[in-house]
Amino acid sequence: MLKRALAISAAAIYRNSAIVFGCMVAAGIWLGVFLHIRADYDNQQALVAEDMNGLTTVLQGHVVRTIKELDRAMLVVRDYVEVERLRNGGAVPWQKLRLPQPEVLGEGGFPIGLIDESGRLVRSNAPLASAGLDLADRPHFRVHLNSGGKDILYIAAPIHRPQSGRTTIQVTRPLLAEPGRFTGVISGTLEPDQLFPLHPPIAIGTAGSMSVLGLDGIVRASVGTSALMLGEYRADLALFEALARGADYGTSLDRSDGRFGGRFIAYRRLEDYPLVVLISKPEDEAMSAHYTRRTNYGLFAAALSLIVLFGSATGARYQRKLRKTAEELAASRDELARRNMLLDTALHNMSQGLAMFDGEERLILCNDRYAEMYRLPPEMRRPGTTRQQLAEYRMANGVYFVRQRSDDAARRGPRTAATMIRELTDGRVVCLNRVPMPGGGWVATHEDITERRQFEARIEHMAHYDGLTDLPNRVLFRERLERALAGTRRGDRPFAVMLLDLDRFKEVNDTLGHASGDALLKAVADRLRRCVRESDTVARLGGDEFAVLESVEDGASNAAALAERIVTALCTPFDLNGQMVSIGTSIGIALAPADGTDPDQLLKNADLALYRAKNDGGDTYRYFEPEMNRRMQIRRDLERDLRRAVANGELELHYLPLVNLKDDRICGFEALLRWNHPTHGRVTGRDLIPLAEETGLITTIGEWVLRQACTDAASWPEHLKVAVNISPAQFKYRNLVQTVVSALTGAGLQPQRLELEIAERVLLQDGDTVFAILNRLHELGVRIALDDFGTGYSSLSNLRRFPFDKVKIDRQFVSDLSEANVDAVSIVRAVARLGDSLGIATTAEGVETKEQLERVRKESCTEMQGYFIWPPCPAKEVAMLFPNHLPSPAPADAA
Ligand code: C2E
Ligand code: MG
Ligand code: MG
Repeated sequence: MLKRALAISAAAIYRNSAIVFGCMVAAGIWLGVFLHIRADYDNQQALVAEDMNGLTTVLQGHVVRTIKELDRAMLVVRDYVEVERLRNGGAVPWQKLRLPQPEVLGEGGFPIGLIDESGRLVRSNAPLASAGLDLADRPHFRVHLNSGGKDILYIAAPIHRPQSGRTTIQVTRPLLAEPGRFTGVISGTLEPDQLFPLHPPIAIGTAGSMSVLGLDGIVRASVGTSALMLGEYRADLALFEALARGADYGTSLDRSDGRFGGRFIAYRRLEDYPLVVLISKPEDEAMSAHYTRRTNYGLFAAALSLIVLFGSATGARYQRKLRKTAEELAASRDELARRNMLLDTALHNMSQGLAMFDGEERLILCNDRYAEMYRLPPEMRRPGTTRQQLAEYRMANGVYFVRQRSDDAARRGPRTAATMIRELTDGRVVCLNRVPMPGGGWVATHEDITERRQFEARIEHMAHYDGLTDLPNRVLFRERLERALAGTRRGDRPFAVMLLDLDRFKEVNDTLGHASGDALLKAVADRLRRCVRESDTVARLGGDEFAVLESVEDGASNAAALAERIVTALCTPFDLNGQMVSIGTSIGIALAPADGTDPDQLLKNADLALYRAKNDGGDTYRYFEPEMNRRMQIRRDLERDLRRAVANGELELHYLPLVNLKDDRICGFEALLRWNHPTHGRVTGRDLIPLAEETGLITTIGEWVLRQACTDAASWPEHLKVAVNISPAQFKYRNLVQTVVSALTGAGLQPQRLELEIAERVLLQDGDTVFAILNRLHELGVRIALDDFGTGYSSLSNLRRFPFDKVKIDRQFVSDLSEANVDAVSIVRAVARLGDSLGIATTAEGVETKEQLERVRKESCTEMQGYFIWPPCPAKEVAMLFPNHLPSPAPADAA
C-alpha cells in the first residue's frame, strides 16, 4: 500500500518536475531570506545592545560627574563649617555662618543646607529654604544619625514639593566634629533632571527613556517616553536580578509589557555610588533599520519567487508539451509499428496470394501465399524481380497457366483491371483479380479456388443427383424432361416417360431394416442403369419411386421392350449380404408428345398408368390410356361419396362360402364388403377398402361390418362360422376387443363361430400390441386366421409367434398352381404341411377351376374358397341355401 503510494507520488513528482523544482527554488529563496533576516536581526540586536551599552557609559559618566560636583560643593561647605567649629571652640556658630551662593559653589549651582544634630534645618542657601524646618524624621538625616559616625554619601529618594511644584533629591553627608562624632548633616539639593545631560549626546530616540535608580530599587530620575515614575519602588525590574548575580551592566529585550511591545533595556551600575543607570528604547525603533531591510528582503524574495515560479510554470508547460509531443510521437510510432505488424500478419496470413508490381513491371512485394502458390524460392520473391523473370521461372518449373485463352483480360495486358479464372498445369484453378494502382503498376490477388470449384461441383451434383444411388434426382429429371419436350417441339424423336414403383419394398425395409432397404435401392439403381442406353435417363424420384426417360423410335413397342427388361431385371431376387430378397416393380408409361406436351401432364399420366399396373397386381407395366383418367376421376368421386354412403346405408355384406375339403361341405362364410353406389354400381372390397383406409372411415365401417356379420351369422345353422376381415387400421384403436365383444353379445353369437381374418402386414406394424390384442380375442374364444399368406415376408416365422387357427394361402399362389409352376406348388405344399404339423387349418383362396380345386385337395389344404364353387352372395341368398334352418331366437337385449 505504502509502496504503491510512494510510487504514485514519485510518478507525480516526475511528471511535474519543473513545478516541483520551481517550488523548491522558491522555498530555498525563502529559506535563505529567512536565515538572512534572522542573522540581520541578530546583528541589529547586537548593534543596538552595543549602542545602548555605550549610552549607559555616557550616562553613568554624567551622573557620576554631577554627583561628584555636588559632593565637592558639600565638602567645601563642610570644611568651612569645621573651620568655624574649631574657631568657635568646638561648637558651630550656626547663626554666624555665611553660606556662599550656590553658583559660587560650583557649575551645578546646587543649593546646600545644614541640619544640626537635632534635625533642624539651620542654614541653607536655597532661595525658598525655610530655616528651622524639622527634618529629624527624614531618611537623609536618620541615615547619618544611625550610621555610627561613618562618613558616607547618601543619595535620598526624590521628594515632590507641592509648594514649589518641584521634585528634588537630597544628597547628604554627615557633619563630623571629629571622626566618629555626629554633629549634623550637610545636604545638597539636586533636581532629577540634572542627572541627565542637558544636550545629551545620547540618542535615545523619540520613544526612548533614561532613568537612574538607587540600588534600593527607588527611581531617582527618569525622562523620555514611558519614563518610570519618580520615587517609585521598582525592585521588580529584571536588572536587579542581574545585579544580584553580579552582572554590573547588561542589555536585555523586555517584552513583558504588552502595551508597548518589546523594549531594549541597557543598565549599568555606578562604581562609586549605589546607583544604576538605565536606558530603554522601543524594539520597533531600535530595530527599524532591520525591519526596513526585512521588508526589502521579503519583497525581493517574493519577486524572485514569482519569477522562479513563473519560470517553472512556463517550464512545466513546456515540459508537458514536450512530454505530450514525445508521447504522441511514441504512440504514433507504436501505432505505426502495430499497423505494420497487422498489415504484415494480414498480408502473410491471407488465404489469397498477393503480388504488387510497379510501372516497370517489377515486383514491389508479394506475400507468402503467393510464393507458396507458384512455388517461388526466396530469391524470386525479392523486390525488383521482373514479371518476365517470374514467368520464365514458373515456366521452367512447370507451374504455369494452361489453356491461356486469349480472352479480353489477357488481351488488354497486366495494367488493366480484370478478374480471370485460370487453370494451372497441376490442375489447380486460380481466380486472379487485378487492380491498377494510381502511380502505375498493379496489385493482383491470386485465389486458389480449386476446392471451391470442387465443392461447387459437389453441391451442384447434390442438387441434381440422389445421394444414395447417385442417379439423377427429381429436379434433374424434370429438367431433362423439359429439355426433351422442347426437343419434340423442334421435331426431335418422341420419348417415353416411365414411372416405377417397387412392389413389396416397404416390407423389406420394415423387416430387414433401413440399411438393407438402402442396399436394395442401390442394387435396383445398378440394374436400372444396365437396362437403359447411355442417352436415356434413369432417376430416383424418392423412396422406392424411380423414373426413366427414354427416347423412342417407334413409340409404344420400343418402350414396352425396355419396360419388360426392367420388370424382368427387378424380379430376379437380390442378394443382400446373403439374404435373398424378392421384390418387383410396377411401371406406368406415358409417351410424349402423344400423351402430353407439358411435364406435369406427362408425369400425371404416367402416374395413372402406374396406379393401374399396381392395381393389376404389380410386376408389370401399363401404358397410359385416356380411360385411366376417367377411372381416377371416378375414384375421387367415390371418396367423396363413401362418406355419405356410411350414413345412407349403401353398404352391404356379401358372403363367400368356405368349403371343408374333408367332406366338401360349406363350413362357413367370409363376409366381404360391397357398396351399392347409386351411379357407379357395385364397388368391391378391393377398391373400397383402400379408399376407406385412406379416408379414415375404416374404423366406422369395420365396426358396422362386425355387427352386421355377427347378426347375419346368428341366423345361420350353428355349425357355420362367419369370417370377418380386420384392417390394420382397426388395430390402431385399442377398442377392437370391446367392439368384437359388443358385436358378439349384440348378435347373440358364440365367439367360436366368429373368425377374424388379419392380413400379414398387420403384424409388421407394432407387433407386440397386435399380438396382445389377438391374445385377448383368442381368450374370448374368437378364432384368428392369417389372411393373404405368402404376400408378406416373415410368413413362416409368424406362424410360430402366434397360435393362429387358420392360414389362408393367397390367391396368387392358388392361381399359379400348375405342373409348370414348381414354386407355387412347393409353397402351397409347404404351408399345408406346416399347418398340418402345427394343427392349423389351411384355406386355399381364389380357387377358380376344377384343376385348382384338385391341386389344393392334393396338397392337403383343409379348406378352400373361390368362384369355382360359389361367388360372394348377399345375406338373403345365404339364408336360401339353408332353407330348412330356423334361426335361433335372438337374445332379449338384442331385440
Ligand atoms: P380377401 O380377404 O383375401 O378376400 C378375398 C377376395 O378375393 C375378395 O375380393 C373376393 O371377392 C376375391 N375372391 C375370392 N375368390 C375368388 C376367385 O375365385 N376369383 C377371384 N378373382 N376373386 C376371388 P374383394 O371382395 O374385392 O375383397 C378384396 C379384399 O378386401 C379382401 O381380400 C379383404 O382383404 C378386403 N375386404 C373385403 N371386405 C372387407 C371388410 O369388410 N373389411 C376389411 N377390413 N377388409 C375387407
Ligand atoms: Mg379375407
Ligand atoms: Mg385373402
